[in-house]
Amino acid sequence: MPGAILVLSGPSGAGKSTIIHTASDAIGEYYFSISTTTRSPRVGESDGKDYFFVSRESFEEDIKLGNFLEYAQVHGNYYGTSLKPVEAALKKGKLVIFDIDVQGHRLIREKLNGITTSVFVTPPTLVELEERLHSRRTDDDAVIQKRLSNATEEICAISEYDFVIVNGTVEQAATEFIIVANAARLKCSRDEEEAFIKKWLGDK
Ligand code: 5GP
Repeated sequence: MPGAILVLSGPSGAGKSTIIHTASDAIGEYYFSISTTTRSPRVGESDGKDYFFVSRESFEEDIKLGNFLEYAQVHGNYYGTSLKPVEAALKKGKLVIFDIDVQGHRLIREKLNGITTSVFVTPPTLVELEERLHSRRTDDDAVIQKRLSNATEEICAISEYDFVIVNGTVEQAATEFIIVANAARLKCSRDEEEAFIKKWLGDK
């Protein structure tokens, strides 16, 4: 497929969406993969924009039908990437951006390693993550504790990623993200490389 994939992972509260939003005008045309989830919408989130919010039954039906490129259980809820829109965007040669967890990243690597670039986004420290989760006031204490304990596990997978962005200030993180997104676009699949070599050699 002619397109490229950029996976962003990192704890909830790391600022991934803000970074994408801040950098979006500077990274050219891209397709952001909107995930499907069984978790409830937070205040300010809307269906079809942040996520497709569905019931467990509907999610499990989609699993059976093979509609997901990847899916995982995170914090007790299902999260998944629908296959068809991603396939269509890749066929059009687009950069497809995913905000998925470390399990999802591993599954994408298994299936589409050749065209995948990945970046792990994290606040400078666990203490800062906790402060951010409390200050955004979207989750109760039990949910925050679950997210923090998940984050301490996820940070151990940092070496599986091509790049790490430590989100100290949004401006700095967005500048680094623009560099990573441009690098992701330059990644060629094996097929593209072989086609290029053939063309480069001409009749020789
Ligand atoms: P949140 O509930 O904070 O929106 O997301 C929780 C976690 O689920 C985050 O780490 C986020 O990256 C991850 N996530 C969101 N969508 C997907 C998805 O489609 N697949 C996987 N594997 N993880 C996802």
